Amino acid sequence: MTQTTPVDELRGLLPAGRVVTDPAETEPYRHDWTRMPAGRPLAVVLAENAADVQAALGWAARHRVPVVPRGTGTGLAGGATAVEGCLVVSTERMTAIEVDPATRTVVAGAGALTSAVKDAAALHGLWYPPDPGSFRISTIGGNVATNAGGICCVKYGVTTDYVMGLDVVLADGRLVTLGGRTVKDVAGLSLLKLFVGSEGTLGVVTRVVLRLVPLPAPSATLVAWFDSTRAAAEAVVAMSLRVRPSMLELMDTGAVNAVEDFRPMGLDRDAGCLLVGQSDAPGTAREAEVAVMVACCEEAGALRAYALDDPVEGDLFLEARRAAGPAIDALGDVLAEDVCVPVDRLPVAMARIEAVAAATGTPIPVFAHAGDGNLHAAIVRTPGDEDSARRAQEAFEAVLQVALDCGGTISGEHGVGRTKVGVLPRQLGPDVMDVGRRVRDALDPLGILNPGVLW
Ligand SMILES: Cc1cc2nc3c(=O)[nH]c(=O)nc-3n(C[C@H](O)[C@H](O)[C@H](O)COP(=O)(O)OP(=O)(O)OC[C@H]3O[C@@H](n4cnc5c(N)ncnc54)[C@H](O)[C@@H]3O)c2cc1C
Repeated sequence: MTQTTPVDELRGLLPAGRVVTDPAETEPYRHDWTRMPAGRPLAVVLAENAADVQAALGWAARHRVPVVPRGTGTGLAGGATAVEGCLVVSTERMTAIEVDPATRTVVAGAGALTSAVKDAAALHGLWYPPDPGSFRISTIGGNVATNAGGICCVKYGVTTDYVMGLDVVLADGRLVTLGGRTVKDVAGLSLLKLFVGSEGTLGVVTRVVLRLVPLPAPSATLVAWFDSTRAAAEAVVAMSLRVRPSMLELMDTGAVNAVEDFRPMGLDRDAGCLLVGQSDAPGTAREAEVAVMVACCEEAGALRAYALDDPVEGDLFLEARRAAGPAIDALGDVLAEDVCVPVDRLPVAMARIEAVAAATGTPIPVFAHAGDGNLHAAIVRTPGDEDSARRAQEAFEAVLQVALDCGGTISGEHGVGRTKVGVLPRQLGPDVMDVGRRVRDALDPLGILNPGVLW
């Protein structure tokens, strides 16, 4: 007589086609964008609704199987990396989207792409602002789990600022609904936000209610070239005292040259740094705001600083900035950092990162959401070169320390995941780590949800 295995039991709990075990089919679910070493999953559940996720988590709890929640695996902190023998729970099939113009909300399945949510809102003249560079390929559930940021955060905030409600499947398989479509809700403890940014360690998000805002006015754009990153960073600090840009992005010479190699756009390869800013203030206020931004750049010693009133021309510079990530990825193996410092510490942080690059002999092109002090220091390793890998790891740790020394954080938007887990106690200290662990233990006493992430 053949014995029923736990995986057979799982198959029996879900409709046909939703449990995948063939290694060739589970392979695409092992890694996230970091490509860090991964284990082999026991199975992947391709959930189509909350009931599927409940069945999967209930089964995992009964059999003490670790669970790795997953959107589309664009994460840059190793959070969706499979651990050996785990159950990957993928939300990629949960893509329903419904916009409610009356309450200016959208209800989206966790697997809906961020761009699909934005497009659905735009059909009603509404806007979902958070815009991670991955918005065309990342899921809204992944954005909630990492509290994703992006280019417009400097004025419009991050994912959590738009989350009004969540459906979450807990580690024991229960489904809870937190918040909803009301702007005001002070009934009970504010548990909703506990799950935002929890990186799959407290539950699996199945449905998200998001706040929408009116579409912004067209933007006017600032373009400024500097001979040094320090001068550009000083211009950013000056701007933060005087204007409220809708985006303010920086690319150092390494990032500019990577983009030119990858997709030639006529950027100035010889300048030390490029700043691109935008204002979407209403009416003539946007030209006035960009004029102040130009003045701040000139006062900080810009080589050239000018305004572009044509939104199409401005968007070309935005595209150049968006190309920085993929362009730098093409240079080699990249350890992606997303440290964030108080904006007045930006000049110091940039100078210290340049010093880390020199001391470790490691290329570290930097592109940044400069307006909110969020720096993407991209540490480039030579593939297959052990010495380069060792120096890159040294640089990775040193850049995290720069952020802490500047009173900042080791992660502004990608999350701690598995890549920065060892450094988190240095930022939070023992008491805050302990509080976090106790919350995790209360919600997931068996410790099955995303082990190795955060703790
Ligand atoms: C080219 C590129 C540009 C990027 N730009 C940005 C940027 O500007 N800003 C930014 O913040 N990030 C950026 N990212 C990182 C990444 O896209 C975000 O972290 C995104 O939110 C991850 O979404 P995902 O669906 O791919 O999640 P995954 O990578 O699948 O998962 C990420 C984490 O969330 C957890 N998770 C996923 N879905 C759920 C769920 N439903 N319930 C519970 N936990 C879940 C996973 O376990 C994991 O810990 C970029 C990535 C790339 C490749």
